[in-house]
Amino acid sequence: MFDDLPPDLDRLQTLRTYHLLWVRRINAKIEALQRRQAEEERGRRDRPPPPEWIVELGIGTGRPPVQVHAGNCHMAGKRRRPVDRGEARRLLSTGLQACTHCRPDAQLHIIDLDVVSYGGSWASPGGDTASVLLTWIAEVAEEPLALEPGDRRVEWETNTWSLGAEDEDGRPLSAAEVVAAFEQTAAGIRERIRELGFSGVATFYVWHDVQAGQLRCSTGSVPPDELPFNGTYVVADHLGPVVEGFLADSMPGAVAWSDLDDAESHLEQAMTEPEITPLRVWTSSVGTSH
Ligand SMILES: [Zn+2]
Repeated sequence: MFDDLPPDLDRLQTLRTYHLLWVRRINAKIEALQRRQAEEERGRRDRPPPPEWIVELGIGTGRPPVQVHAGNCHMAGKRRRPVDRGEARRLLSTGLQACTHCRPDAQLHIIDLDVVSYGGSWASPGGDTASVLLTWIAEVAEEPLALEPGDRRVEWETNTWSLGAEDEDGRPLSAAEVVAAFEQTAAGIRERIRELGFSGVATFYVWHDVQAGQLRCSTGSVPPDELPFNGTYVVADHLGPVVEGFLADSMPGAVAWSDLDDAESHLEQAMTEPEITPLRVWTSSVGTSH
């Protein structure tokens, strides 16, 4: 057998030391590489999720907002700013353009009735406007729900929705259909509150805002006689007359579900403007205690 190793112990010991040094260096490099790979992997895992909504910014002074996108939209440009749901809604309601690709307006239920009626791209569940709107009422039960007994403003801003009549075409909605839709929504919210394990009083309430020409609803952790209205209001026994008042007041056509207005100004309005005639509010207990 060919043997090129030195024959004496001294030189063998030297060679051994020399090669041990090499093995040590190779081991150190393997460890360093493995550590870096693990760090990269952890970085990928811990990276924050993409923002839910983003505003695409223009060029020039102040980088004016140009369009609202869903956070994962690949059509959004490089200049962008993440925004929360509330700000996305506010920006859209002040007329900022919604991306036609990801449709944040549809996702945030800020829909121009024209779009629903005539826009071909947005798939409506039922086809006709009236049933789309009834579906939207039902979907209030699926929307984010805040129950913060210590913060009425958060409850109001998160839970308040408005239904405005803007269309003259389409099948007229009957009060009975709208009442049934709201009752179903109340039942859905009641179920969710029970599942949330929220123990306390909660009220789902619907009223006709005459000034805005809108039917509105909200949920608060308050009893029916402590709703966050500043002016006087009376609790209506039946929702029917409230809805009828709205329908009679509005266009005779279908109605649009929209939350175009800034919830904060609603609260301001509700809290500062005295009602001339007492507001009629229909309430439904949705809490786990009464
Ligand atoms: Zn987009």
